[in-house]
Amino acid sequence: MSRKLPVLYDCLKCPSYCCTYPRIPITRRDVQRLARHFDIPEEEARRRFTKPGMSRRERVMRHQRDEIFGSACTLLDPKTRLCTVHRARPSVCRGHPDGPRCGYYEFLTFERRDQEDPEFVARAYNLPNEFPELAEPWERETSKVDSA
Ligand code: SF4
Ligand code: SF4
Repeated sequence: MSRKLPVLYDCLKCPSYCCTYPRIPITRRDVQRLARHFDIPEEEARRRFTKPGMSRRERVMRHQRDEIFGSACTLLDPKTRLCTVHRARPSVCRGHPDGPRCGYYEFLTFERRDQEDPEFVARAYNLPNEFPELAEPWERETSKVDSA
């Protein structure tokens, strides 16, 4: 008999770390789903929501500026911290996390306990240095300002 494992994370208490990962890969099927959702041509969805990834054929989600993390998926609502296309979200988003634990959530709660601050949010990426190929133009500009 299989028993359901308890879920050890709570997305509603998280500012959506997973949606800030710089390399969120998108398949053609994902683009077609987004195009249907917004009722726009596939090519327009590809252009509006995706950008070149780290290999020749890869496409990844575009990012927008984000108050908390500096940068986040262009389809994340910056205020509610929820996905604006939940029912049409890409397959990689549907599959995360793939078990009862979420590493981001454990990092978040560990840092909050450690800092004794229930609101604390540690940033997980050092953009654009970690992913120079994926940095948005404004992320490169911000980095110049930060390091000036
Ligand atoms: S990082 Fe984990 S806990 Fe936070 S929104 Fe994503 S799946 Fe949920
Ligand atoms: S499409 Fe939605 S779930 Fe996926 S990364 Fe963007 S905001 Fe998050």
